[in-house]
Amino acid sequence: MEEPQTKRFKGPVCDVDSWVAYPVLSDEQSQDVELIEAFAAPIVNKKETSRLVRELNSRYPLNGLQHIKRVRACKGKSSSHPLELLLCLVSEAPHMKEVSMESLLPSNEVKHDGLGEPFLVKVPARPPLTRPQFELASKHWPTSFHEDKQVTVALRGDLFSSPQKERMQVYMTSALTAAKQGKGLGMEAVGAVVVDPVMERIIAVGHDCRGDHPLHHAVMVCIDLVARSQGGGSYSFDKYPACQYTPPTSISTPASDTSQNTPDVETGSQPYICTGYDLYVTREPCVMCAMALVHSRIGRVFYGSAFTDGALGTKYKIHSQKDLNHRFEVYKGVLGKQCEDLNGLDKSLEGK
Ligand SMILES: [Zn+2]
Repeated sequence: MEEPQTKRFKGPVCDVDSWVAYPVLSDEQSQDVELIEAFAAPIVNKKETSRLVRELNSRYPLNGLQHIKRVRACKGKSSSHPLELLLCLVSEAPHMKEVSMESLLPSNEVKHDGLGEPFLVKVPARPPLTRPQFELASKHWPTSFHEDKQVTVALRGDLFSSPQKERMQVYMTSALTAAKQGKGLGMEAVGAVVVDPVMERIIAVGHDCRGDHPLHHAVMVCIDLVARSQGGGSYSFDKYPACQYTPPTSISTPASDTSQNTPDVETGSQPYICTGYDLYVTREPCVMCAMALVHSRIGRVFYGSAFTDGALGTKYKIHSQKDLNHRFEVYKGVLGKQCEDLNGLDKSLEGK
């Protein structure tokens, strides 16, 4: 078997600025900011601030809301007071028809000196996880934010440098080429490539083969080819010239994980075969393929176009499921336009 050479899959030169790879974040990271109602009051005498905060923290400790700042600076131009103090959540307040300072803060517990009349505000219910969430949350009430800089840069679409994008483009072009070759054989136009990002080499290239077997989606084919490159694998795709893998002898042994990458002879299963590898696939994987990627411990997944039944962002976000024992990063949009165009080729297959 020939080693898949990156060069032979190089298509027409495409500008790396013509596409952006955006991260597919978890629901928690991408959802809107949830707000809850609370009572606040102006601090009319600044000198009372630290005493008020101390006494309030003991009366209403805001359990589970450690991200919320107790005091905010008053930005209003015409404001007569410089600071406002968060008293308590509406849910914590005594059920009273008329809310008064005395009902909220019994004066034997918190002296009202320095406080103005209470009013309603909305505060963020959860700590912000991303910069967009932080910026939205802060419009309502100041919160603390432990920024994941990589997520911030990724959301801007700036995580990958131009040389990195050139490599990514080469890999996705291989997947596109495989997809078209599969399509030429009557398969769905989906292609996939597994890459060792450290060695910068392609380990396996595959296309959809479900004309032969309903489960032979491009990603499943590719994972099986990776297994073959490690001496395992369950199927032969030899009759499909575009489905290739790098022979085991030419793979340099990784410094670690060698035991993990050895096929499990006793059970016949192939644990962790994709540890440290990246997958490039023209279309967002389905649930079955996404689960296979979890089980094979894929490092990262890059896909071109979204898919109605996709399990890495569209219908589900399997890569970010907390109850699964492996999670991985997913990016979408690599050569998005070119991958999108493949779907046009599949229109004739719709309904099958
Ligand atoms: Zn699939």
